[in-house]
Amino acid sequence: MTVAHPLEIRQLLAEAAARLPGVEGRHEAELLLLHVLGQERSWLFAHATDPVDAPAEAAFRQLLQRRIDGEPVAYLLGRRGFWTLDLAVTPATLIPRPETELLVELALERLPPDRALRVADLGTGSGAIALALASERPQAQVLATDMSEDALQVAASNAARCALDNVRFAQGPWYAPLAGERFNLIATNPPYIAADDPHLLQGDLRFEPATALASGADGLDDIRVIVAGAGAHLVEGGWLLIEHGWDQGPAIRALLEQAGFVNVSTATDLEHRDRVSLGRRP
Ligand code: GLN
Repeated sequence: MTVAHPLEIRQLLAEAAARLPGVEGRHEAELLLLHVLGQERSWLFAHATDPVDAPAEAAFRQLLQRRIDGEPVAYLLGRRGFWTLDLAVTPATLIPRPETELLVELALERLPPDRALRVADLGTGSGAIALALASERPQAQVLATDMSEDALQVAASNAARCALDNVRFAQGPWYAPLAGERFNLIATNPPYIAADDPHLLQGDLRFEPATALASGADGLDDIRVIVAGAGAHLVEGGWLLIEHGWDQGPAIRALLEQAGFVNVSTATDLEHRDRVSLGRRP
């Protein structure tokens, strides 16, 4: 069907918002259209009645259909804001979550700004944790690791774009890339979902890398390995911080205590759910 006149931005957005489910529909439609038009949100206010040319409309409709089919907005935009950083994300990386900013806050409380501390982020994905810590602590040396070479490439390109030169990257599982090294703080947002959890088949999770999400029958397979190996890679008094699911706090505190950690605790997120457990090597 040929439309006689180009649609105005506000007409296209209203139509798209009606097709996207949920309260976020209007906001998501705006993000996708602004992405196609290469504009910022602030631009929209004064341009709502501008006509949308045919190529832009076609590109927008393609993105809209992919969103209706379930693809996460962050993958469609290729970006996600985390902490103060604008990060590139691809389907090789988990999409950084706002909850993970709690882990960053807890880590920063344990990293005095005036010292050349050594920090590791295990399973860095897009680099979210490593880059947030590196940006807040320019004197720290941060090592970011991942199993996935593709994810590390995304993380390294994010470091370059954020002009952070105090992060290095190494490929491999958990402590393999840390061989022979000790750190003042190890942070990780590992996979922690039980392999048969139905949430893996819903929403954004369907499109994210399974290896970044699921970890054995109770979701704790990777966390057991991380806790068991941490002592050999922390200095005395060094901290281990682990993000996890809302119902895993007691089990992870028990693992930390069995491994000899002290000052073991769990911090809750804005929804008052257990989110990050931590302990200190004596
Ligand atoms: N550390 C990354 C993040 O917090 C990736 C975590 C993961 O892939 N499990 O977003």
